[in-house]
Amino acid sequence: MRIGAHVSIARGFPSVFDNIKSIGGNCAQIFSHSPRSWKFKDVQKAEEFRERYKKEDVSPIVIHNSYLVNLASLDKELHRKSMENMRKEFETAEILGVNYVNIHPGSNKDVKIGLNRIVESLNDIETKAYLLLENTASGIGSEFERLRYITENITIKCGVTLDTCHTYAAGYDIVSNLDNVLDEFDSIMGLEKLKLIHLNDSKFELGSKRDRHEHIGLGKIGMEGFRNFINHPKLRDIPEILETPVDKRRGFKENIEIVKGLVE
Ligand code: MN
Ligand code: MN
Ligand code: ZN
Repeated sequence: MRIGAHVSIARGFPSVFDNIKSIGGNCAQIFSHSPRSWKFKDVQKAEEFRERYKKEDVSPIVIHNSYLVNLASLDKELHRKSMENMRKEFETAEILGVNYVNIHPGSNKDVKIGLNRIVESLNDIETKAYLLLENTASGIGSEFERLRYITENITIKCGVTLDTCHTYAAGYDIVSNLDNVLDEFDSIMGLEKLKLIHLNDSKFELGSKRDRHEHIGLGKIGMEGFRNFINHPKLRDIPEILETPVDKRRGFKENIEIVKGLVE
């Protein structure tokens, strides 16, 4: 199985390999820069990163975009900065030889306006990398039909990331009705579009629309929910990235061990 976590690259891009291996993972997600800042530094040690990416058994590595980006915004300045930031993310991905850039769709009170703004924005970006559109707990990205509207109207290569916490909080019952949820995803989007899973338990209940991650098994999805989820034949081969809390109870290492222990 491919299981990993969102890890730091504070000591440079190549440090992702040691960081993820030290906690027992074999795939990883990173921020290419501080996710709460618009600033980018020049990409350092790209060659070393590419070399190690070829050699090491760590794959895929995914770049997660900045929290500040909102491609659905009608605010001109915010949108301009968001576009500049997205172009930088894709540029960084290409320099590093990373295939996937994971993004949140964006937010706008008017879903239709927001969706069209996202589509226009993404069609104004050129890249060889893959865009991964992540579903959200509430707002524009919380329904499969809306994600499809985006993926079927953009020209860059794209797939979808399903975040288990977001999916559950959005109202899709992956605990008691996983087969139905996957059938629904398949008929709307096509299962082949599912490229990545963010594996997080949810602090809040089904349909709460609240995005609060919990340790695996300690939230409303629960240990049996995850056992069922990760062993589902349609999901077994999809890489899984943890974005669980790091606190006194557990870090990523413990959550990775727990997930591995659930594999049947
Ligand atoms: Mn995310
Ligand atoms: Mn996520
Ligand atoms: Zn989340």
